[in-house]
Amino acid sequence: NQPVTSTVVRTTCPYCGVGCGVLATPQPDGSVSIAGDPDHPANFGRLCSKGSALGETLSLDGRLLYPESDGARVTWDQALDRVANTFKQAIADYGPDSVAIYGSGQLLTEDYYVANKLMKGFIGSANMDTNSRLCMASSVAGHKRAFGSDTVPGNYEDLELADLIVLVGSNLGWCHPVLYQRIVRAKAERPNMRVVLIDPRRTVSADIADLHLAVQSDGDSALFVGLLGYLARTGITAPDFMENHTSGAEAALLVAEDWPVSRIAEVTGLSEKSVQLFYDWFAKTEKTVTVYSQGVNQSSSGTDKVNAIINCHLLTGRIGRPGMGPFSVTGQPNAMGGREVGGLANILAAHMDFTPDAIDRVGRFWGSDNVATKPGLKAVDLFAAMGRGEIKAVWIMATNPVDSMPEADAVRAALAACPFVVVSDISDRTDTGRTAHVRLPAAGWGEKDGTVTNSERRISRQRPFLALPGEARPDWWIIKEVGNRMGFEHGFAYFSPAEIFAEHVALTAFENHGSRDLDLSGLVGVDYASLPPTQWPVRHKPAARMFGDGHFFTPDGKARFVPVLPPPPFAPLPGTFILNTGRVRDHWHTMTRTGKTPRLSAHYAEPFVEIHPADADRLNIRPATLVQLSNRHASAVVRALVTDRQRRGHLFVPMHWTDQFASNGRIDALVTAKVDPFSAQPALKMAEVHAEPI
Ligand code: SF4
Repeated sequence: NQPVTSTVVRTTCPYCGVGCGVLATPQPDGSVSIAGDPDHPANFGRLCSKGSALGETLSLDGRLLYPESDGARVTWDQALDRVANTFKQAIADYGPDSVAIYGSGQLLTEDYYVANKLMKGFIGSANMDTNSRLCMASSVAGHKRAFGSDTVPGNYEDLELADLIVLVGSNLGWCHPVLYQRIVRAKAERPNMRVVLIDPRRTVSADIADLHLAVQSDGDSALFVGLLGYLARTGITAPDFMENHTSGAEAALLVAEDWPVSRIAEVTGLSEKSVQLFYDWFAKTEKTVTVYSQGVNQSSSGTDKVNAIINCHLLTGRIGRPGMGPFSVTGQPNAMGGREVGGLANILAAHMDFTPDAIDRVGRFWGSDNVATKPGLKAVDLFAAMGRGEIKAVWIMATNPVDSMPEADAVRAALAACPFVVVSDISDRTDTGRTAHVRLPAAGWGEKDGTVTNSERRISRQRPFLALPGEARPDWWIIKEVGNRMGFEHGFAYFSPAEIFAEHVALTAFENHGSRDLDLSGLVGVDYASLPPTQWPVRHKPAARMFGDGHFFTPDGKARFVPVLPPPPFAPLPGTFILNTGRVRDHWHTMTRTGKTPRLSAHYAEPFVEIHPADADRLNIRPATLVQLSNRHASAVVRALVTDRQRRGHLFVPMHWTDQFASNGRIDALVTAKVDPFSAQPALKMAEVHAEPI
């Protein structure tokens, strides 16, 4: 893979939602040196183990380099014609809802924008969902219920300004390491700063916690509903803020009244003393940030959890001010950018929903009279519909649902039965790629050119420093070529990502008048090549802290309390465990990149199951022996890691390993495809499994 420069290139890490700035410098020997960008406001020069090892993941080993049709190498023209013609034929025969795109938070904003425009603007179906559905859809739904918009109010600096940080369902130490390092440093400088960790597991993030609440799985709703009642009872409220800037408090407080500390302790499995201590700290600490992540989102009650957290911040007026607020941190590098352009099946574009006004506005902007008029199929429903034969053609971009979706074996079967599967990816070895009729080689990190948005709404550039290898092409180019061949030339006359970004910026500002949170009008005419990391909103006046003026994007401008009734404690079937899934420190998703470097695999070389010593003893499972996990969906074989970091009755298995790296390690095959009713996000942290030694 040839460098296109020998000088340092300022770019952005392609892994987690922290969005660290990276300096990449191609070396004469063909390697690339990687360093943190000292001037990037996300990381100020720091990188974690994954970011530091980026240079070791750039080899062409395992890369998909040429278009393929039915396993044979073809020209781009042949591949693109086949994709366009087959999609057109399916639409002609079965209607626009018979086709779908399933994308990824790995796509750049420009790629996402063109894919979303093709599907929703010109094909006329909203069957465009992404793996972001698995990541933070519950936060999106919770934000919209509370704020009227999908707005993350937090800034990273709030984590350093806070006196209390509450980490809920977030192993920041492994999953957002540079943010974790920022907290570690802030806590070292201000020892009075407190950290509370709410997580069934005693993860590495507990190392900086002053209090770890090993809550029962899904007990966090109850914990925050109880907190709301406690704050109200003890008079820790912000009456002026509530009166002028919120609505609906009465109904939420009515529910919370019934949840005294004793009841909370009972349903969460915590001691009354520890619950009381947490409530006391929260009540007495104005500068409180509540950080939440997949442990909150990946739940069948994830949206309610988000609103239970936000309710507590609304009651105390702790939002829109430095050092306080609810703060969703996303898993992927561009989950936020994807949300911004509409990369979920229930969003139209630019944070606009499928309202008649928005459909008309977006249609006029795009010059299309065929804009989708209703939400499309969300991830779990999409693959279920495929399994029923209702999807005739699907295009999967930069993701591996055969391993990452719940009930992954059923997803594999659905793809195997789908009449036409297109996969565009950088890897030629994914399990999803094996189901494809057409495979399209996409550009990878270091070759791509575009933007991503991190968890604090900061847009940063990914810039290329390597030439496109083989016949790989950027995703935006592949999508626009298909759009053109489908007869939509007037919508897809793009020659560069800069043009696409400019169009995206213009759409956010189009007939906005301050009515929508996402407004990038300050970037109109910006020099794309030198665009510095920029946090939105970027209207014509200088950026303000989100909600700092007390204005929310609901019809009456007020934030909404949402009454939350905690779900009953989950009771697994007798003899089964509650299985929790998640990430390890040094691997990313299904390891197509991090699996290339031995340094990262040295941390954990194979999939494992964390099990409490008492449970291991009872089942005669010895440390480092093999364990079979099974349920009605599938089975997996993993290595026993016996540790009291795990709760009794609970197990944890990482989600990264696929058949490529370990036979029988595909853990998401065991997870039931149960979803949250508001966000449709699957409960990836709550499966029932049997465990036995083998
Ligand atoms: Fe990359 Fe996230 Fe690590 Fe930063 S913290 S270097 S964005 S993986």
